[in-house]
Formats: sequence, structure tokens, C-alpha cells
Amino acid sequence: MNRAEMLERALAHREAWDVVVIGGGATGVGVALDAAARGYDVLLLEQCDFGKGTSSRSTKLVHGGVRYLEQGNVSLVMEALKERGLLRQNAPHLVSNLAFVVPNYEWWEAPFYGVGLKVYNLLSGRYGFGDSEILSKEETLARLPTIRTEGLRGGVVYYDGQFDDARLLVNMAATAAEQGAALLNYAPVEALTRDGHGFVNGVVAHDLESDREIKAAARVVINAGGPFCDAVRRLADPGLPPLVAPSQGIHLVFDGEVLPGGAAIMVPHTSDGRVMFAIPWHGHTVVGTTDTPIEEPSLEPRPFDREIEFVLETASRYLRRPLTRADVRSVFVGIRPLVRSGDAASTSALSRDHVIHIDPTGLITITGGKWTTWRGMAEHCVNTAAMLEHLPEKPCPTRTLNIHGFHRHAERFGPLAVYGSDALHIQDLIHAEPALGEPLHAALPYCGAEVVWAARFEMARTVEDVLARRTRALFLDARAAIEMAPRAAALLARELGRDEAWERSQVEAFRKLASGYLLA
Ligand SMILES: Cc1cc2nc3c(=O)[nH]c(=O)nc-3n(C[C@H](O)[C@H](O)[C@H](O)COP(=O)(O)OP(=O)(O)OC[C@H]3O[C@@H](n4cnc5c(N)ncnc54)[C@H](O)[C@@H]3O)c2cc1C
Repeated sequence: MNRAEMLERALAHREAWDVVVIGGGATGVGVALDAAARGYDVLLLEQCDFGKGTSSRSTKLVHGGVRYLEQGNVSLVMEALKERGLLRQNAPHLVSNLAFVVPNYEWWEAPFYGVGLKVYNLLSGRYGFGDSEILSKEETLARLPTIRTEGLRGGVVYYDGQFDDARLLVNMAATAAEQGAALLNYAPVEALTRDGHGFVNGVVAHDLESDREIKAAARVVINAGGPFCDAVRRLADPGLPPLVAPSQGIHLVFDGEVLPGGAAIMVPHTSDGRVMFAIPWHGHTVVGTTDTPIEEPSLEPRPFDREIEFVLETASRYLRRPLTRADVRSVFVGIRPLVRSGDAASTSALSRDHVIHIDPTGLITITGGKWTTWRGMAEHCVNTAAMLEHLPEKPCPTRTLNIHGFHRHAERFGPLAVYGSDALHIQDLIHAEPALGEPLHAALPYCGAEVVWAARFEMARTVEDVLARRTRALFLDARAAIEMAPRAAALLARELGRDEAWERSQVEAFRKLASGYLLA
């Protein structure tokens, strides 16, 4: 993916695109990928970087959602479990099978969760990840060596998927580009154009790098703005009532020693009636999440103190050594674009199903849903768009479409495993210039070649793009990320042809942003 070429295509395109997608998160990139793979002419515009919104800030689970089963939403769970299986099939370098243990401290928990998790696995049919099992106290401790032993009776283990959200997104964007889509980051859509009948027939975007205007006519415009989708809808009609009730969820990240056994903990009932996970991820431990209604979405949401205390307290109840603020390496926050419902008492009761909404202007908005279900959501959305706008009918091929980087044994690439087949090219960069193989920081497994790769082939434009989403340094260890920033900036400046003043301003901007991910 080359940004200059993408911009050129967007500026030079004279006729109407078949589909213009607004928003470069899981939903928008998924829609662009689906539409391009069918053979439609597609442009996607993202206001910031791909994945800057919620799609880099998830709990990193490719799952059916045990909680939704408890809420009785069997069809959502079955659909998500099928998508979980398809995603592992199409992106095996990024989706792995993870054991989750529900520790039991009460006599009734083993039979209760044992049966529930059997049903969960049964619903996945031929897309199963493994049978659940009841564990003795010793077996539970072998998988969770740091768990609180007082009163521990045993546990139940089940299996679900885990992934690197921002990396999958970048690989999906690359797949969409390979299928012919043009995708542009740092290009906010600032207006929607309308025809003589009032129907939306295109967008006006702003290229933030060249300060040029991009006018893109479209047969259909799809709004995948996530938590910001109402602001996009109001570009066409300022009086529209909101579709989305935003709610934020926080995650605290700790060292890997918190969960040394390789299994995750699932707490099925927190004091606020939700589930909480502690998950091993990239050598660290991610704990979350919360569900806190907020008034307005923002691109850099901040955690509330009560959310931090809640996560620390809940996790500490299950661990021998309580977790404190001083243990936190990073805190990150995502905003759920939940679809409003008149009678829901809280945002945690709102449905996680996706919604495709068509405004009187013909603007199609797709929102809600889950990362896991991006493919099915995109298929549904493009089917709707094709029908509505009389696009020639074309079948959806994404059920069996490999995602860029597809590799069945990527673990052999060690710290470069998440790149799948691209790891070989990154290794080539290191062979050509061995200094690029040196780690950028002793605490994290990232090297200079990854910065070069991100700039040349993944449209990374800023230090934040590289350290937050092309690598996950900021999410794993914010302090280490700040310390890596000068070297990342120097490499990026070399690749992008920027001067020292740019380098300094990038380091300063990143330091400011990353300090929001630190607690102490
Ligand atoms: C705390 C939390 C944990 C989660 N955990 C999981 C999980 O473990 N597994 C799972 O399956 N799902 C999970 N989800 C759900 C999942 O992350 C979301 O459903 C998904 O990421 C939403 O993607 P999106 O593309 O709709 O929104 P976003 O990722 O927010 O993308 C919307 C994009 O639109 C862009 N945009 C907005 N306005 C404009 C404009 N005018 N012009 C151009 N671009 C614009 C934004 O910059 C943004 O990048 C979680 C959600 C949260 C909040």
C-alpha cells in the first residue's frame, strides 16, 4: 500500500465510484474489502489512521461471546462462532486458539459453567475450537499458577480465539487494496454531496497531508464511522436523531508474569454483572473491560478513575498478589458504537447485533456488531447497497478469501509471527541492513525493520501509527514506547523524506499522546 498512489487514484478518478466507504475501522475496511473482492470500484476514506478508532482498542478476542449466551442471544453467538471459525481459516497467522479458565470458588460453579460452556462449544458446530472440560484444583493451578488458592475448588476450561486487532486491520486493508480498492488515511470526509432529489451522491474529503480537496462521486456512500457515525449522518441532515449510544471500555496492561501459565482467566460475573477477562497477549497481560456510557465519542478517550479501580479490584480478587496502579504498563480505552434502544436500562444491556440503517437521503450506515463478525456484517451491507442502488449483482467471495499475510505456521517467524508471510520480506530488510534488526527497546520485541516496513508498505505516516497500530508498543508498555519514539521517528523521517524539525515534533506529539496511557 502506497499513500501517494492511493491519493493520486482518488484525485484522478473522474467517474462515480461504485462504493465510497467512510471510516477505516474493522467495519469500513471489511466493507471495502468485500465490495472490492466482488469487483466493484471502491474508495475508502479514513479521517485519521486505519484503526485509530475502536478497532485497535478491543479486548483482542475472536469470540462468540459467552455473555451473550447468558443473555439468551443464541443467534448472535452462533453467527459470531461461525465467523470466528472462518477468520481462523482465512487469517491463521493472526487468530490463535486460547484456553480460558473460569476459576470456581463455589460448589455450584463447576456444574453450572461446565454445562454453559459445553453449549457454547456445541453452538460452534464444525467451527469448534475445542471441548470444554471441568478441571480439578491442581489442574486449575497448573494453568493459572498465580490464581488465589483460598477456597479454590477447581475450574472450567473452554477455548476461544485471540488476535491482534490493529494488525488484522492493516492486513485487511492490504487485502482490499490487492482486490482493487483505493484506501486513504488522513482524509476526513467533511461534506456529503446530494443530487437534485436530495439523495447522497458523493463525498468531499480533505487530504490532510497535501491540503487538497478530494471530490468523490459515488453510486452508493456507506457510513462506517463507528462511534462517530451520527456526526457523518448529520453532514447530510443536521436534524437527524442519533443512532448510537456510545459506551467506553477500558483495559489495563500488565507484565506477562501476571498470567504465566499461558491460559486466560474469565470471570463470568463481576460486581456490575458483566464478564471480565485477563488475557496473555504479546508477552503481557491485558485485563478488562468496563461498560460506561459517555456523552460524546472522542478519538483519544480517557479512563475514569472508578473504571481503573474497578478493574484493579476485580482482577485482584482472583490473584494471589493484588494488582496496583504501579503495575500498569499501559491503559487503553475503546468506544462501543452500540445501537440505541428506547427501553434499555444500561448500555451493557444494549444488543451487540449490527444494524444497517438507511436515512431518507439514501446514506447507508452500518454500525454495532463486533470485530469478530466484520465479514458477515460486510456481506450483509454490500448486499443491501447493491440492491438499493441497483449495482450489478455479484456474489460475495470472502468466506474463503485469504487475508494478506496468510501463513499456516507463522509461529516459526518468532517475534515477526504476526506479519505472516510478510515476515520474510522484513527479514530481507534486515539482511540488507543488519542495523535494522536491532531492538528499538529492551522491553519490547520490535526492531527498526518494522518501522521501515510500515512506512514503505503499510501507509504509516506518523510515529503514533508505527508505535500504536503497526506495532503495539504503546498498548503494551507506554513508557517503553515513549523511549522508542526518537529512534522510530528517525527511521520514519528517513523513509518519508522529512527533516529534523518534523522528527522532533513527532517525538513531542507522541510523548504527549502516550502520557495519557500511563497511570503512575
Ligand atoms: C472496550 C471494547 C472491547 C471490545 N472487544 C472486542 C473483542 O474482544 N472482540 C470483538 O469481536 N469485538 C470487540 N469489541 C467491538 C469491536 O471492537 C467494535 O465493534 C469494532 O471495532 C467497531 O469497528 P468500527 O469500524 O465500526 O468502528 P471504529 O473502529 O471506531 O472505526 C470508525 C472509523 O471511522 C473514522 N471516521 C469517523 N468519521 C469520519 C469521517 N468524517 N471521515 C473519515 N473517517 C471517519 C474514525 O476515525 C474511525 O477510524 C470491543 C469494543 C470495545 C469498545
